Amino acid sequence: MNGMDDIASPRRTKEIIQRHGFSFKKSLGQNFLIDQNILSKIVEAAGLDSTKGALEIGPGIGALTEKLVQQAATVTAVEIDQRLIPILQEVMEPYSHVHIHHGDVLKTDLAELFHRNFANVSKVSVVANLPYYVTTPILMKLLEEKLPVENIVVMIQKEVAERMAASPGTKDYGSLSIAVQYYSVPELVCIVPKTVFIPQPNVESAVIRLTVREQPAVEVDDEAFFFQVVQASFAQRRKTISNNLKSRFFPKDGRERLDALLVEAGIEPSRRGETLSLQEFATLSNVLLKAGIRE
Ligand code: SAM
Repeated sequence: MNGMDDIASPRRTKEIIQRHGFSFKKSLGQNFLIDQNILSKIVEAAGLDSTKGALEIGPGIGALTEKLVQQAATVTAVEIDQRLIPILQEVMEPYSHVHIHHGDVLKTDLAELFHRNFANVSKVSVVANLPYYVTTPILMKLLEEKLPVENIVVMIQKEVAERMAASPGTKDYGSLSIAVQYYSVPELVCIVPKTVFIPQPNVESAVIRLTVREQPAVEVDDEAFFFQVVQASFAQRRKTISNNLKSRFFPKDGRERLDALLVEAGIEPSRRGETLSLQEFATLSNVLLKAGIRE
């Protein structure tokens, strides 16, 4: 860029931050990337090209944004911190196909934003080094709103990435794995050391790619009830599925009826929730629903 370093070089990052008198806010999860290789890996994993669009959440001073504008037809970046807006406008000045949107992504009408900014692209990727304090709400909003997104490539806490990608029967498998896998196919792209950020976070990080499914992984008759059954099944990990479901859906009696419904769904009542596949949870919630079970 104009003979200068990339935005993410440690030298240029410090220069931009100092010149604007910027101070990091821990409460906004501000850990900026200063490693070109990691930035390139994130962007590569999204598979962008000049027909596609990119939505970035939390651009910071634009380290990842600078890579995205070189690959995608159009980029929209949503940043909550007003102090970063003039910095982003300055560093993105050479590019015409980038929109900086000031706001909280959790309060942004994304369907409207997609309609406005991505009407002319074939596909959209969400690419971000996410603020860790709101990783799950942001990802669940993107998935639940069923936006026309091809994939989501994000830097998140390593431990959260492992839970999202976990298989049944493992210690990391739980309601987060099921929620994410219902809507997408998760893959761990790479583990990332703390040293690639300033300031360094307290936890290890990982890049994960969620390839969004055209249809949910399993057929359920009522999505809200399916997720209630999943949540109830993991309420106490050491309890059997029968005990967990009894506490939530059959508080007074009905053990026999519950166990008969579990058997009807092909599930041994003494199993634990963490051993059930998505398909088994789907069958179970459909059987319970048909039997008129509600909270
Ligand atoms: N993308 C930059 C990078 O990789 O260097 C910065 C990443 S930093 C981990 C997270 C960014 O998200 C910060 O710029 C922070 O201000 C912003 N942010 C935090 N909460 C947000 C929210 N609810 N909506 C939009 N942006 C948010």
